Amino acid sequence: MGSRNPDYCDTVPNWHEHKTLGQLKKAGFQIRSWCKKCGHDQVEDIDRLIELRGTEGVPWDCYRRCEFRGCGGRAVFKARATIGGSFHRLSRNWSGL
Ligand SMILES: [Zn+2]
Repeated sequence: MGSRNPDYCDTVPNWHEHKTLGQLKKAGFQIRSWCKKCGHDQVEDIDRLIELRGTEGVPWDCYRRCEFRGCGGRAVFKARATIGGSFHRLSRNWSGL
């Protein structure tokens, strides 16, 4: 704490600390989804996700149906904590997907 340069502070979403949508929102994460089939990438409204899944909803290792041009593929969730930071996939098991 305090020793990190804020310009390089890229908070990675953590399964233990940011498991639920409520925790992600509280920590200020932005959510996007990325379709593995068509590559469509879109911003997700975290408030809407909470409306649908509740604050205890867990987006990790989870898919949503891609609605882009009737694609129907599986889209994974990504999150980032800071503007200009990188999005990190909400998956505990990268290699298995
Ligand atoms: Zn798609």
